[in-house]
Amino acid sequence: MNLTNLRKDFPILNEKVNNKPLVYLDNAATTQKPLCVIEAMSNYYLHLNSNVHRGVHTLSQQATTEFEHVRKSVQTFLNSKEQEEIIFTRGTTESINLVASSFSEAFIKEGDEIIVSELEHHSNIVPWQIIAQRKKAILRVIPFNDNGELDLNVYKTLLNEKTKIVSVAHVSNALGTVNPIKEIITLAHNKNIPVLIDGAQGVPHYKIDVQDLDCDFYCFSGHKLYAPMGVGIVYGKRKFLEAMPPYHGGGEMIKEVRFSGTTFNEIPYKFEAGTPSVADVLGLKAAIDYVNSIGFETIQKHEDELMQYTTKKLLEVGDITIYGNAKQKAGSLSFNLNGVHPFDVGTLLDQLGIAIRTGHHCAQPVMQHYDIVGTARVSFAIYTTKEEIDYFIESLKRVKQILL
Ligand code: PLP
Repeated sequence: MNLTNLRKDFPILNEKVNNKPLVYLDNAATTQKPLCVIEAMSNYYLHLNSNVHRGVHTLSQQATTEFEHVRKSVQTFLNSKEQEEIIFTRGTTESINLVASSFSEAFIKEGDEIIVSELEHHSNIVPWQIIAQRKKAILRVIPFNDNGELDLNVYKTLLNEKTKIVSVAHVSNALGTVNPIKEIITLAHNKNIPVLIDGAQGVPHYKIDVQDLDCDFYCFSGHKLYAPMGVGIVYGKRKFLEAMPPYHGGGEMIKEVRFSGTTFNEIPYKFEAGTPSVADVLGLKAAIDYVNSIGFETIQKHEDELMQYTTKKLLEVGDITIYGNAKQKAGSLSFNLNGVHPFDVGTLLDQLGIAIRTGHHCAQPVMQHYDIVGTARVSFAIYTTKEEIDYFIESLKRVKQILL
C-alpha cells in the first residue's frame, strides 16, 4: 500500500490545526472521508436530488435505482443472503434501538433475560436497559478480566432458557478488544438464542461475512468506515425481521393506510419510515468501493503493525498505563499518563496538532471496572502513518515533561 498516494485521497489530512499539520488519531470516533465519498454526495445534490421510491418522474426513478444499488452493495459487502435483510438507518445507535425495540415487542416478556457485556458502548447498553424496564425483563452482564477480555466461562453460565437475545460488540471502542464473536454466537445458538453484533468498530477493520458468522443481527455506522455521518445499517435474518413489528410509523413503511387500520410494507421497507438520507447512503457505497479497492488484508496488516508499534513506543515513554491487553486488539489503544488527567494530555497534544480522544468513550462501565475517570485513546485508520505515531510519541514525551 502506497500511503503517500492514499493520503492524497483525504483532503482534510492537509489541514493545519493550531498551526501544526493535523495528526488525526481519533478514527474510532469518526474517520475522515476520501474525495470519492464527498463527490458521490455532491454529485447527488448537483445532478440527482429528488425523493426516492415515490416518484414517476425520471430523477426520482434514477435516485431510487442508485439508492437500491447501495442496498445490493451492502449485501455483497456483508455477504448477507438477501438484500431485503439490509435496512438503512442513521447509524449504529439507531440500528440497535430499532432491533431492541422491535425484537422485544415480538419476543421479550416479563422475566425474560437479555445478555450484554461489561465492555459495551452505551449504545449497546441503554436501549436494552430501556427495554428491560419496559418489559420487566432482566439485563445480564458478561464481565471482562483486567486484560479487557470477556469471561466466556461466566457467559456460559448466563445462557439459559429465559435468555431471549445476546448483544455484544465485535470490537471494543474503549479497549480495542476483539471479542471472540464466532464462539459467542455458537454458544448462544446451541441454546437457540439469537445474537446481535455491534459492529461499529468491527466493520472498519475486518471483512465481515454474516453468513459465516451466522449472527442474527449485525449493526454498523457508515461514518466509522470512511462514509458520511447519517447512514447506518442493520443486517437481520429474514425470519426475525419478518416476525418483528415496525419501529417507526410513517411514509414508505406501509402498504395501505385507512382509519380502520393500516397494513405494513414488506421488509426492508417496513423498517424504513420517512425520507432516508439519500446522499449519505450513496456516500456509503463510494466508501465501500473505496475500502474494497484497498482490501481488508492490506488494511488489517497495516493497522496491526500500527497497534504493535504504538504499544511498544508508548511503553517506552514510561509512566504509562495501557488499558486493555487482550490477545487480539484492533483500532483503538487506551492509556493514561500515570497521575495525570486524560483531558490535560489531550488538550496539550491538541496544541501540537494531534487529535486524540479523552474521557469515558461512552463506555462508563469500562471506566468503572478500572476505577478511573477516563483514558486517552489513539485510534488508527488506513491513512495513519508511523511518522505520525513518532510525532505523537515525541509530543507525549514533551507533555510528560510539562505535567510530571
Ligand atoms: N457501538 C460502538 C462500539 C461504538 O464505538 C459506537 C460509536 O463510537 C457506537 C456503537 C455508536 O455509534 P454511532 O454514534 O455512530 O451511532
